[in-house]
Amino acid sequence: YNDQTWFLKRAKMVPSHLACIDINSGQQWTYAQFTNLIKEWVHRLSLEQLKQGDRVAILANNHPELLAILFACGLKGYIYVPLNFRLSLIELTEILTNCEPAILITDYSYEELIYSLPVKKMLNREVRLEGKSFINESIQVTSISADEPWMIIYTGGTTGKSKGVQLSYNNVNWNAMNTIVSWGLSDRDCTVTYMPLFHTGGLNALSIPILMAGGTVVIGDRFDGKQAIEEIIKRKATISLFVPTMYQVMTQTETFKNSDFPNVKVFLSGGAPCPFTIYEQFEKKGLPFKEGYGLTEAGPNNFVIDVDAVKFKKGSVGKNMQFVDTLIVSVMNKPTAINEVGELWIRGKHVFTGYWRNEKETADVMNDEWLKTGDLAKMDAEGDYYIVGRKKDMIVTGGENVYPQEIEHCLIQHRMIREAAVIGLPDEKWGEVVTAFISLTEPASYSEKQLIDHCRQYLGGYKVPKAFVIVEELPKTHVGKIDKKKLLYLKP
Ligand code: ATP
Repeated sequence: YNDQTWFLKRAKMVPSHLACIDINSGQQWTYAQFTNLIKEWVHRLSLEQLKQGDRVAILANNHPELLAILFACGLKGYIYVPLNFRLSLIELTEILTNCEPAILITDYSYEELIYSLPVKKMLNREVRLEGKSFINESIQVTSISADEPWMIIYTGGTTGKSKGVQLSYNNVNWNAMNTIVSWGLSDRDCTVTYMPLFHTGGLNALSIPILMAGGTVVIGDRFDGKQAIEEIIKRKATISLFVPTMYQVMTQTETFKNSDFPNVKVFLSGGAPCPFTIYEQFEKKGLPFKEGYGLTEAGPNNFVIDVDAVKFKKGSVGKNMQFVDTLIVSVMNKPTAINEVGELWIRGKHVFTGYWRNEKETADVMNDEWLKTGDLAKMDAEGDYYIVGRKKDMIVTGGENVYPQEIEHCLIQHRMIREAAVIGLPDEKWGEVVTAFISLTEPASYSEKQLIDHCRQYLGGYKVPKAFVIVEELPKTHVGKIDKKKLLYLKP
């Protein structure tokens, strides 16, 4: 049994609650109005003669209507494939060749791009079926197995080629239910999100769980730190997720400095390691700030938020959720001891069903029911987890293992440093040398000696970077994560 109609049921419970708000236009939809929009999309898609299992690709700016299309696809058994509009024609062509959509829905924002894409049919999201109400129309739900894919999300490709993560109805719904239970969400919750809806951070991390709980999702298109803070205050948001680079901008605004955010239960950071300097900005104001960890292939949510906890441990992502099993394993695939670093494995009903048409990559990351995340982690004596970095990013220098994240945390503590990313560059003598790419707060007062002294104070000698490369700004991925792959092009 697959409950494809949960949104419609929730809407009947809270018809006049606000479901979504579009920041750009100010337009808002109650649950009843959003149901109408979903039904309109079921109707529009039915005119296209799609079959169950057909892929419906979307290339459009962030807008609440994308969520309505997602639910419409879910009712008819079409697979929703959101695309990243920042990709090049070549990258998009690769993805489209892999997923072969029956149709592409677009808002025509990327006109120079879309006419070159290999798609059979296009549909304009913005064309309205004027004046017609669908609310009382009944919908013919195409019933399909809960293990069939509801969506395919292509990963950012931070670690290589982009792969299509298939998420089944079970995966998406279990992530949402886990999140509601373990983060204590209800119909009184509201989130403001600028995370792209083509990424799990914009879609599955909070938007879908909040809608399942009957709360409100406020969607912004282009991130603006000042506007984000103002929206959080204006909409009385209770919980929001941003990546660390967004927080860096937001905490610098006057509005942040002058507000006490009485409605916010917790500010969440995720997607990348969060510099301690950001934690401190929130700590100073007595605001709850918690780091989350996730990945497209598992949820993304895996760890608990205890909103009653006065203070979260800095750098920890907390304890695993009730219906999520986690394990840290050594190179020999054996569980590690307390505080020992190993690879993080995850098991649960939210773990994906495989990469789309890519059995080899799927086999590489699965061990029976366990997903091998490729991330390194450790657990302390109280059962709290810490993400140490990516396995692939680990540096081996002179036979010692070095985790870049630890060095990045140390560098960023220094007032001279705005951003830092550490990688290992090949070296005949050392195997790899620890190399730091940094951007500066005040380039005029930079002193490498001072920076090295600072590192020596906190880090073992072999971890102290042997080379520093100063750049104006570090390269970022589409969700604002530092893109280490691109650093290689900047190397000295
Ligand atoms: P790809 O998987 O192709 O490299 P991606 O990095 O964009 O692309 P996502 O699923 O968006 O894929 O990101 C998941 C990864 O982000 C995790 O595997 C982990 O490496 C990193 N990450 C997420 N949260 C944290 C965190 N709190 N601390 C450190 N790393 C994190």
